[in-house]
Amino acid sequence: MVRVGVLALQGGVAEHVSALAGLGAETALVRRPADLAGLDAIVLPGGESSVFDRLARAFGLAGPLASAITDGMPALATCAGLIYLAARIEGSARGQQTLGVLDVTVRRNAFGTQLDSFETSVRVAGLDAPVPATFIRAPEVVGTGPGVEVTSRLEDGRIVGVRQGAVTAYAFHPEETGDDRLHRAWLESAVGRGPWQERPAC
Ligand code: GLN
Repeated sequence: MVRVGVLALQGGVAEHVSALAGLGAETALVRRPADLAGLDAIVLPGGESSVFDRLARAFGLAGPLASAITDGMPALATCAGLIYLAARIEGSARGQQTLGVLDVTVRRNAFGTQLDSFETSVRVAGLDAPVPATFIRAPEVVGTGPGVEVTSRLEDGRIVGVRQGAVTAYAFHPEETGDDRLHRAWLESAVGRGPWQERPAC
C-alpha cells in the first residue's frame, strides 16, 4: 500500500486525508522530521503559508522536508502548499520564508480576499475533462523557471497548475470538491520508490 504523508501543521488537512484514503492510500500526518520516515509521497494542503513556515521552522521540519522533496519525494501541493514550495513569492508576510524547491514565482492572494473566493472548472494537462476547482485567497503563478511545465491555466491565461519533476502544484483546492481525479492522477504518478526513503529519520 502507498503511504502518503499530509503536512499537518495547519490548514485543510482532513480533506486531503479523506481524498487519499478514498483512493486506498495509507495516510500519515507530518509535523516533525521523524514523520517523514517511510513515506512514499507527501501532500502540502491549503491554509496559511506564513503559518506553515513559522511552525515548520519551529519544529525543525523545514530543512528535512525541503531535502526530501529535493531528493525526489513526490509532492502534491495546493494553494498555501504551492506558496510554501515556491522559490519566490510576491506579497510575502513579514519575514516569510519558503522551502524554495519549486522554481516558480507566486503572487499571494492574487484573486483578492476570502470574500472573493470562487468556484470554477479548470482544464488540467493529462485529464480529458475539466475538474471543479475552488479558489480561496488563492495565489497565481506569475513566473516559471525552465524546468517547470504549466499544467493548468484559467481562461484568461493565468497559471494555476504547474509540475516540476515529481512536484505537482495547484493554486486551487481540488480536495474541496469531492472530485478525486487530480489526487488519483497524482497518486498514480507518485507510486514508486526513491532515495528519500533511505534518508534516516532525525
Ligand atoms: N492566501 C493563503 C496564503 O498566503 C493561501 C490560501 C489558501 O491556501 N486557501 O498562504
